[in-house]
Amino acid sequence: MKLAVVGAGIAGRMLAWRLSKLSEQFGYEVTIFDKEDCNSQEACSFAPAGILSPLAELEMAETTIFELGNRSMKLYPQWLKELSQKVFFRQLGSLVTAHKNDRVELQHFYNVIKRKLKNCDEYVRPISIIEKEAELEMLGEGLFLSTEGQIDPIGLMTALKQELSDCKWIDNCLVTELNAGEVKTEEGSYNFDWVFDCRGVGAKNDLPLRAVRGELLWLEAPDVNIEHLTRLMHPRYRIYIVPRPNNIYLVGATEIESEDFSPVSVRSSLELLSAAYSVHKGFGEARIIKSVVNCRPALPDNLPLVQLEKGLGRINGLYRHGILLAPALVEKTLTSFQAIIDNEKHYAINS
Ligand SMILES: Cc1cc2nc3c(=O)[nH]c(=O)nc-3n(C[C@H](O)[C@H](O)[C@H](O)COP(=O)(O)OP(=O)(O)OC[C@H]3O[C@@H](n4cnc5c(N)ncnc54)[C@H](O)[C@@H]3O)c2cc1C
Repeated sequence: MKLAVVGAGIAGRMLAWRLSKLSEQFGYEVTIFDKEDCNSQEACSFAPAGILSPLAELEMAETTIFELGNRSMKLYPQWLKELSQKVFFRQLGSLVTAHKNDRVELQHFYNVIKRKLKNCDEYVRPISIIEKEAELEMLGEGLFLSTEGQIDPIGLMTALKQELSDCKWIDNCLVTELNAGEVKTEEGSYNFDWVFDCRGVGAKNDLPLRAVRGELLWLEAPDVNIEHLTRLMHPRYRIYIVPRPNNIYLVGATEIESEDFSPVSVRSSLELLSAAYSVHKGFGEARIIKSVVNCRPALPDNLPLVQLEKGLGRINGLYRHGILLAPALVEKTLTSFQAIIDNEKHYAINS
């Protein structure tokens, strides 16, 4: 069976990988299309801080995100073991905190989570921040979200690319149209049994997508020793600080309703950096080693879409939690795909 995956972001790569793992059993031949070079890091999926936080996302999102996110948190450790390249992943839990004057924001966060999640106490525990992070003592109180984790998205994208060496890559190739069983490009059209559309914002001619700009700064801060992913609640600019090995901290991320890929603005830099500095004075001497901008693909309800009709599948609308949701969405896609194929076989045998 000939399958095309269009778009090699996290959704496309993870789907192509899982399909190619089934290729011996089901005879799948997978072809991947992307408008960029297969080694480029232009896709939105190279931008994230790699926060895996089903719980914290609940504040703004529906419980579906929490459920899908929890499923991904079960799949990630299993799937990562199947990759030949090691990917940085850890599940230490995360902290949510606020400055004394903004305690109402922290309480609001806790109230929302408690309202949305009946068994909230299993996952969220009020703590003194010093219990987990000695250097953040001055923040006083906070919440510990025990199941939250983080991953290195660049490492993950690279490792997935390596697993796809048996697939055919058609890169530097803009797909101008796709339909059930057909991919049209500027050079010509290709026929397949199934086409999976994973183009992110690039699918906006076919889906009511919008782009949501996000900005993130990478800091090297030898004077800071924080181990846990930390979120700061604030009435205007909320930030997260994601610790990585070797005193690297990722500080993000803005959320701006605009399809704007231009460099990080002064306003955003000031907001992100002053919030980080307010959490730990050691960020004052940090070096900004990288700034990242990209646009998240979002649907009107901000929920992800998995849609399969005969010959055409779509995964999109991954919005602010694409790295978190990818395993669960890919699993859902494969289950529906297999059900359709089985149904067709059953129908063919019985007709
Ligand atoms: C600053 C920032 C921080 C983020 N932090 C997190 C985080 O901590 N945790 C988390 O879970 N999520 C996070 N996200 C969200 C996450 O990055 C996205 O949800 C996810 O990357 C979307 O993946 P995708 O595969 O749908 O799209 P993309 O990664 O955009 O991939 C789409 C692919 O399709 C290709 N394409 C598009 N159009 C065409 C065409 N016409 N022809 C051929 N190819 C095409 C593109 O080149 C691209 O490779 C963050 C996003 C940003 C911007």
